[in-house]
Amino acid sequence: MAEKRDYYDVLGVARDASGEEIKKAYRKLAVKYHPDRNPDDKEAEEKFKEAAEAYDVLSDSEKRAKYDRFGHSMGQQGFGGAGGFGGGFGGGGFTMEDIFAHFGDIFGDVGGGMGGATYGSRHPRKRTNKGTDLRITVKVNLKDIMNGVEKKLKIPRLVACEHCHGTGAKNGTAFKTCTRCGGSGYINHVQQTMFGAMQSEAVCPDCNGEGKIISEPCTFCHGSGVEKKDDIVSFMIPPGVENGMVLTMRGKGNAPRHGGVNGDLLIVIQEENDPELIRDGDDLIFNLMLDFPTAALGGSAEVPTVEGRARLKIAPGTQPGKVLRLRGKGLPKMHSNVKGDLLVNVMVYVPENLTDTEKSAIESLKGAPNIVPTESTSKRIFSRLRHIFNKENRGVE
Ligand SMILES: [Zn+2]
Ligand SMILES: [Zn+2]
Repeated sequence: MAEKRDYYDVLGVARDASGEEIKKAYRKLAVKYHPDRNPDDKEAEEKFKEAAEAYDVLSDSEKRAKYDRFGHSMGQQGFGGAGGFGGGFGGGGFTMEDIFAHFGDIFGDVGGGMGGATYGSRHPRKRTNKGTDLRITVKVNLKDIMNGVEKKLKIPRLVACEHCHGTGAKNGTAFKTCTRCGGSGYINHVQQTMFGAMQSEAVCPDCNGEGKIISEPCTFCHGSGVEKKDDIVSFMIPPGVENGMVLTMRGKGNAPRHGGVNGDLLIVIQEENDPELIRDGDDLIFNLMLDFPTAALGGSAEVPTVEGRARLKIAPGTQPGKVLRLRGKGLPKMHSNVKGDLLVNVMVYVPENLTDTEKSAIESLKGAPNIVPTESTSKRIFSRLRHIFNKENRGVE
């Protein structure tokens, strides 16, 4: 598959373009590459789809923010294609039908008989019935974020009634022809305008364009075409997810009444706080409290990592405020093999309650030549610990 073009380039807008500019740019392209204007032109169709895909993402502030951050790599997850996570847009997630169902309204004011209303036939377009989206929250811990995790959940959702195949009619067959439209699904609509009476076609409101009406409702779903069912849904949460991220599984939401396209299942990531490790993007931070003798004489200390405990060498004369970096012990970046680091922030414990023996041992050190820092020693150490004076870390009690 060809390299995907940047969505902003596709629409020809600046990265800080307003919603209105994006809509305008999309409308222009949609008109230019509209299938009515470019019959049997595969290239125009591709351009038309590409623009719709870009518009789908950039017109939605949540998706746009994610795209700005992660680029196309999110396509495999957040924007999910048909059939769930795997597809992405690139895998043909968008059909022409989808485009008109989703963005039909944008063609509304294009005028001249152009637009979704005429695609594929001379009739006005029926609304595609779409079920509602479901939103669930999934908790993940650092281990899940590190390795990714497969979740299997029981999700109560509306599914198509199997007795009537989602139609709501007994056995899926008990229909009669709509009398209002005579089965065509469309009615003539006469409107008085400043140019005189205008005749147009409209979707029949009685049968919603189906051309038929249920004559005997299905006894299992009472004509709704849906039934509530506990559905087992399994999905993979990829490594590197972040709190608040939303993964979309197309078609795993509720089924609509009387058949149509299922809604989506939106999986909201909720990160559990780790008792020891603090997340900072891809990095992890651990605050290590060293005892004074180990800081002064050197030794080792145990630190937690996502995969278990690790031993860390402590050099003699380790200062509080020093940051020890364990490379690659942080979290993975989404869709990449790059991992962050584990930053061990060293603090040195100053004893609070001392026995007389301990007191006298410390007192014997008081004033000793190597115990008191000289001015140049202080300067040297402070210059190395400059980071502890920056805004974020300025400790205020
Ligand atoms: Zn009708
Ligand atoms: Zn039924």
